[in-house]
Amino acid sequence: MTTAIYSHPDCQRHEMGDWHPEAPARLQAIADQMIRAQINDLFDHREAPLVGPGELERVHSANAIAIVRDNVPAPGDCYPIDGDTSLNEFSWRAAQRAAGAAVAATDAVLDGEIDNAFCAIRPPGHHARPSEPMGFCLFNNVAVAIRHALEVRGLRRVAIVDFDVHHGNGTEEAFMEEPRVLMVSFYQHPFYPYTPVAPITPNRVNVPVPAYSKGDVVRQLVTEQWLPAMHAFKPEMIFISAGFDAHREDEIGGMGLVEADYTWLTEQIMAVAKEHCHGRIVSCLEGGYNLSALGRSVVAHLKALAEI
Ligand SMILES: [Zn+2]
Repeated sequence: MTTAIYSHPDCQRHEMGDWHPEAPARLQAIADQMIRAQINDLFDHREAPLVGPGELERVHSANAIAIVRDNVPAPGDCYPIDGDTSLNEFSWRAAQRAAGAAVAATDAVLDGEIDNAFCAIRPPGHHARPSEPMGFCLFNNVAVAIRHALEVRGLRRVAIVDFDVHHGNGTEEAFMEEPRVLMVSFYQHPFYPYTPVAPITPNRVNVPVPAYSKGDVVRQLVTEQWLPAMHAFKPEMIFISAGFDAHREDEIGGMGLVEADYTWLTEQIMAVAKEHCHGRIVSCLEGGYNLSALGRSVVAHLKALAEI
C-alpha cells in the first residue's frame, strides 16, 4: 500500500486565538505521534497545493468565498466570522491549502499514483455551509474534493463517511439533492450544530447517537446501517471526514471512543473500498481537540489505511 499524507506549513499559520481548541498544535501533535510510533517514514509526504481556480465555486457561493478572501486582517489582527470562527492574516492561504490538499489527493488516487491519502489539514471543513463559513470551518474541503471527483473526473457514485462527533451539517447540505453521493455518519445528538435531524434515506445514513455512547454503539450502527447502505451504493471512491473528537479523552465531544475503535472503523471503510473501488480513499482531518488523543487516534487511522 502507498498512503500519501498531504499537508502544508500554511495550515499551521491559521490561528483563531491562543485560547482556541482548533489550534496549530493539533497538526504538530499528529506529527509528533507519528514519529513516536515510528511510522513517519512509511508514508509519501506531499505538499498541499493551493486549491485551483473554480474549485471552491463548485460548492460555495461567491459570498461565502468573499467572506474569507476579502477579510484577511492585518498581521496580528483577527476578523471574527462567528462566535468561534475567525480569520488571521494566514487563514485564506491555509483554507486554500486545505481544500487544495483534498483535491490533489483525489487526483493522485484516481491517477493511481497512490492507493489512498490522509490530508493533515486545518481549518477543518464539515460545518462549512455552501453559503457561509461556520463552526471552526471556512470551506468544506471534502465537499470541494467530491465535486471535483464528480464534475471534473466524471465519477458517478461517491461515498462520504463522517465519524466526527459533530453532525457534518455543511456536507449534508452540500449534497442534499445529489443522487451521486451517499453520506454515512454518526453524531452526538443533541449537540452542536443543532441542525434538525434529517430523515435516513438510501443516500443519507446520518445516525444521531446519545452522549456517552461508546464503541459498541458505534460498531453496531456501522454494521447494521452504514455497511449495507455502502455495499448497495457501490461507491467508485470513498471520502472520510476524519474527526477524532468522539474520543473519550476529548472534552469538546461527549462520546467514548478509543484508538481501537478508529482502527476498526478504518478497517471497515477499507474493506468496502477494496470490494467496490480499488481501495480508493481520501481522508481529511476534521475535529479532535485533545492533543494526545488526537495524535494517537490519527496514528491508529493511518496504520489501518496503510495496512502497517
Ligand atoms: Zn467535531
